[in-house]
Amino acid sequence: MKKKKASKSIKTEIRPPIVTIMGHVDHGKTTLLDVIRKTNEAAKEEGGITQKIGAYQIEFPSKEGSHKITFIDTPGHEAFSAMRARGAKVTDLVVLVVAADDGVKPQTVEAINHAKEAKVPLLVAINKIDLPGANIKKVKSQLAKEDVLVEELGGEAVAVLISAKQQKGIDDLLEMIVLLAEMLELRADPQGPLSAVVVESHPDSHKGPVASVIVKNGTLKVGQTLSSEGVRGKVRALINEWGKQIPSALPSTPVEVVGFQDAPALGAEVYESKGKMEHREAPQILQKEDYKELTLQDFLEPKIEKPGINVVIKAESEGSLEAIVSSLKNIHSDQFELKILHAAVGEVNKSDVLLAKTAGASVLSFRLKVPPVMERMAKEEKVLIKHYLLIYELLEEIEEALWGEVTDEVQEKILGRAEVVGLFQSSLGKTIAGVKVSEGRIALNDKIKIYRDEAEVHAGKIKTIKHLKEEVREVKKGLECGLTIEPDFNFEKRDILEITRG
Ligand code: GDP
Repeated sequence: MKKKKASKSIKTEIRPPIVTIMGHVDHGKTTLLDVIRKTNEAAKEEGGITQKIGAYQIEFPSKEGSHKITFIDTPGHEAFSAMRARGAKVTDLVVLVVAADDGVKPQTVEAINHAKEAKVPLLVAINKIDLPGANIKKVKSQLAKEDVLVEELGGEAVAVLISAKQQKGIDDLLEMIVLLAEMLELRADPQGPLSAVVVESHPDSHKGPVASVIVKNGTLKVGQTLSSEGVRGKVRALINEWGKQIPSALPSTPVEVVGFQDAPALGAEVYESKGKMEHREAPQILQKEDYKELTLQDFLEPKIEKPGINVVIKAESEGSLEAIVSSLKNIHSDQFELKILHAAVGEVNKSDVLLAKTAGASVLSFRLKVPPVMERMAKEEKVLIKHYLLIYELLEEIEEALWGEVTDEVQEKILGRAEVVGLFQSSLGKTIAGVKVSEGRIALNDKIKIYRDEAEVHAGKIKTIKHLKEEVREVKKGLECGLTIEPDFNFEKRDILEITRG
């Protein structure tokens, strides 16, 4: 019997840019955010009362039609840093506000460095040009000293002159944001798995804990069960920045979520979890029916009633563990039964290997390093530990195993897999990805696919490989190397590379 294969194709759509405003204190960030919001207020909903939910979205009527832009409504660097510290990348574009009468100041430099480190493009807004002390030329040359070269000084940075107070130049700034966003080709898959990032979160005496999130992928809907670093929730209501309830939120949309059990952390990722909601006291991320507690019985007397495939799952984070477990529960086969004996966050340990051995299970390790001593033990006990970097890859293997057949579809044979662990710039300005090969090998001219947050984001060919400063033709599992690819790509740490024959 042939089963329909899970579709891997991802239909991404252009999504609005998410913008953070940064700059030195008193240079006009809050004023600018307020002015932009107000420009839009008149045009938007009548009767809606604006409420601060940590971010807002405007609709900017440019010459070629209407464009949405999302602004993170917490000026300053704290929110940006908090999100970066958790590895969440929510900002697509930084608007750097510099007061024309005050010039580049320590926090301006800090903002430039934040944006550079996060590889987020920067757009300069020279503010307060209405003041008599405004010296635009000086600001530009000060910026040049910080490596932000504006166009007339031979660089590529765009600077827009504004007065937030007098509402001048605001449309130019918004138009420039739209233009830059178009160049960045920001995409997401509204039908794909949900991921969102918390941009604000607090307890509310009426609504309970509330969290404002920006949707990164998928669609956030009322009724969904969510999980964010162990904090669970069921979406009771979604409220937009106009105080109105909405049924769903698409990528790049900021929205306040009512229904979390506790206030999730700023910058934490939010996923959909398919399991039913536990009641408040249970802090576990999995339902009781999702997994079995380890008991002595498990080791002594494994009970396998039906032909089944038994697995122990270990993952690097609660988010990925939940995603894996809930997806696995959706796979059904009439030939075998999948049993998740144990699922937990953290490295594969002795008790996992012993449980797997006793129950004839395999250990599925997601984005984790397995300590060599555990590898050895698994080998001795004849327990298979399988490593995965992508959820779809894990799900496909389980599906195939459950259906007891290998698909006869023509599939490209994966020759290697690797993860980006560092980033460098070549003398020619190309991005070099420092990668660790986790499986197979990588060779010159191989075809490469790049996945980020489980979605394919780029495809190309291996152009150069450097290992210990030497140009080489091939690197094998376990080694690290520097790669450039064609067409060039802005790699990020944790990107996953999948290698097929060129
Ligand atoms: P933030 O600390 O960067 O958020 O700065 P604020 O938005 O709070 O602005 C600091 C001060 O600068 C306030 O008194 C604003 O009214 C003033 N301000 C902001 N933008 C302008 C402007 O374009 N022109 C003038 N003259 N003052 C401005």
